[in-house]
Amino acid sequence: METKIWKIRGEGTDLAKLSEAAELLKAGEVIAFPTETVYGLGANALDEKAVEKIFLAKGRPGDNPLIVHICSVDNVRQLASDIPEKAIKIMEVFWPGPLTLVLPKAEIIPDIVTAGLDTVGIRFPSHPVAIKLIELAKCPIAAPSANLSGKPSPTTAEHVWQDLNGKIAGIVDGGKANVGVESTVLDVTGSVPVILRPGGITREQLESVIGEVKLDAVLHDLDAVPRAPGMKYTHYSPEADVYILKGSTREKVDKIMNILESSKGKGIGIMASQELIGALPKDLPENVLTKVLGSEHDLETITANLFDTLRWFDQKKVEVIYGESFPDNNIGAALMNRLIKAAGGKTI
Ligand code: AMP
Ligand code: MG
Repeated sequence: METKIWKIRGEGTDLAKLSEAAELLKAGEVIAFPTETVYGLGANALDEKAVEKIFLAKGRPGDNPLIVHICSVDNVRQLASDIPEKAIKIMEVFWPGPLTLVLPKAEIIPDIVTAGLDTVGIRFPSHPVAIKLIELAKCPIAAPSANLSGKPSPTTAEHVWQDLNGKIAGIVDGGKANVGVESTVLDVTGSVPVILRPGGITREQLESVIGEVKLDAVLHDLDAVPRAPGMKYTHYSPEADVYILKGSTREKVDKIMNILESSKGKGIGIMASQELIGALPKDLPENVLTKVLGSEHDLETITANLFDTLRWFDQKKVEVIYGESFPDNNIGAALMNRLIKAAGGKTI
């Protein structure tokens, strides 16, 4: 299949190009599009056959539910059978934005979207191109991240192209996704809301609006059974082996120097803050590539660059990637969740 690309830039959302993409969505095709978190792989959420194509293109297991994207708060009423008080408050404050609410599902949503669950994840993204596309398609859009299953999520159209060229009808290229990790998934079906996946909206931000918010056990206990089905799968895995580097800056530098000493000639990637990379010797051997993620004082930027950097090291064909560990509060919770998964928990 030929994969079309529509390049959209600037303030205007280029109606003619988006209309073409929207027509394909209406016709039951699958289209990748930019959101503020990562690129999504969308299909009409009410069309079972169209949604099936998402699972096929990604190689996604059928028990991993999709998030349904909408372009107005009012759309929730059609998709959820009940909307608790706290959910209404959260939607008022955080939508549009990088937050998915898990709500009781309405009949109208096909089982394939929710992997047979009686709940549905719903999100109103803030990216103007995503909003316009959903408006033009005139239907809710089911969309997981637009990567092959298991790979780092795409933060540019180029990443989507690498994974899905020839497998989908088109890609709307809206530039770089600026949050760079997926939405926070918040289950609001119980009395205390539970974060099933940390993301762009932090626990601290949520608690400042609705009081206590719990973290799903799986986020701090590796043996717990996840309540968000997709959380059990290998995720964000580049070809290279990934390890997380812990400790003070001094300890991290010492660990890196020991690693380099014992891995002569092996392709090594180091992704870290500018502060840590600045503390390394300037004359590192040729087999060692370093990539600055951002300043350690700006975890938003570090988070936004994570997936792109994992993919960059794969293109450079390094064998092992060492990623710096960061504090796991605020946006650091999402950052460390993705890094730990990319590393399969391996830490040094
Ligand atoms: P992705 O869109 O690729 O980021 O994946 C969506 C993720 O959202 C899934 O892997 C689940 O972890 C979560 N999710 C979606 N719908 C539900 C739901 N009804 N209940 C719990 N988690 C969900
Ligand atoms: Mg995903």
